[in-house]
Amino acid sequence: MVTISRRGADRIRAGHVWVYRSDIVGARDVYPGALVRVEEDRDRAARGQPKSRIDPGLGRPQQSKRFLGSGFYSSASEIALRLVAPTAIEDLPGLLGERIQAAIRYRERFVHDSNAYRLIFSEGDGLPGWIVDRYNDILSLQVLTQAMDRGDLRQRLISELDRAFEPASMVERVDARVRRLEELPEKHDGLIMGEKTSTEIAMNGVRFRFEALGGQKTGAFLDQRENYAAAASYARGEALDVFCYQGGFALHLAKACQRVTGADSSRPALEIAEQNAALNGQEIEWIEANAFDLLRDYADSGRQYDAIVLDPPAFARSRSNLNSALAGYKELNLRALKMLGPGGILVTCSCSYHVHPTEFLDMVTSAALDSHRILRILENRGQAKDHPSILGIPETSYLKCLIASVS
Ligand code: SAH
Repeated sequence: MVTISRRGADRIRAGHVWVYRSDIVGARDVYPGALVRVEEDRDRAARGQPKSRIDPGLGRPQQSKRFLGSGFYSSASEIALRLVAPTAIEDLPGLLGERIQAAIRYRERFVHDSNAYRLIFSEGDGLPGWIVDRYNDILSLQVLTQAMDRGDLRQRLISELDRAFEPASMVERVDARVRRLEELPEKHDGLIMGEKTSTEIAMNGVRFRFEALGGQKTGAFLDQRENYAAAASYARGEALDVFCYQGGFALHLAKACQRVTGADSSRPALEIAEQNAALNGQEIEWIEANAFDLLRDYADSGRQYDAIVLDPPAFARSRSNLNSALAGYKELNLRALKMLGPGGILVTCSCSYHVHPTEFLDMVTSAALDSHRILRILENRGQAKDHPSILGIPETSYLKCLIASVS
């Protein structure tokens, strides 16, 4: 049983599922990864309130604890508890099995035109600590918490997935940093079922190579899948995809544009991008460059494009470097806007959770003002629906993708 402060309880009552270690007041019978009862410490809650609001109790003894639900305990993470249900749980593997089935049904209903998508998105699917991606006939699993690494729970996940998809194989991708933070034993990427490690996926009619293990791992950014299609629906003429990785946007733009250039600093990523272009019978120019240098040189030399995509890596790793991150985003957007004439399309993204949507829009606004451009918002988008954003859990919404018409 874990007792938490009023601040922690208020966060739960507001719809969140995390309790930070600083909000833990007491813990009894806990071990790493335990499923625990979570209660609010009402004595302290009452003491923290102004006197006039304390129920005098009419002489009855006040109940000193309030039950909030059941959660997973981590002995290591700053996120000490992740609430799983607002009730007691009798059969944990059974409950997780039901949630896995619900996650599968949600994708059946809301994912279209793709055999690659996120099947389980941790808190977004009520399964905190599990991420599962489907890449056609290969499933890729990631385990991020002590509780979800338990043998019986992993086994339940694997057998539910096997029954539902009969995949050619399942692989486990390991985030070494997260495992260290959770004080879980070190582990390496590897096959956990079957033998197949590479396949081909198709999203929105565009084909991609997928390599699950070994050398240069591949895979599209699944959270951008719907944004790829949206960007392609507006773009035309000559397009530039900056931070193109293995060609996610560029390959989609090539269906609608006369000429497409993709730029990235990673040569291995560009090599896969070229293979993907060949797979789709497309000709795309790939440039290995630092995006900041490339955009400065191109903007200074007066180049013009009809569509530009900016999809940089997460610049803000925490709120502490927000300002430098915003400065980086703004520089990119400024230079891109210089190269977009009237009628041009800007697709600008940020995958930093720490850059909040209003801050992102303010940054683009400021770039528009400085470059004397007027931007009409065509679409203000986020991550694809297979990465569900839960109201009340802000951390489940992280991707911003603004599509605007420039004049
Ligand atoms: N748009 C891509 C995903 C981009 S991920 C897609 O949809 O698939 C971010 C990419 O930025 C990575 O491929 C990384 O190699 C690249 N990158 C990081 N820093 C860079 C820099 N300074 N200049 C150019 N590319 C960079």
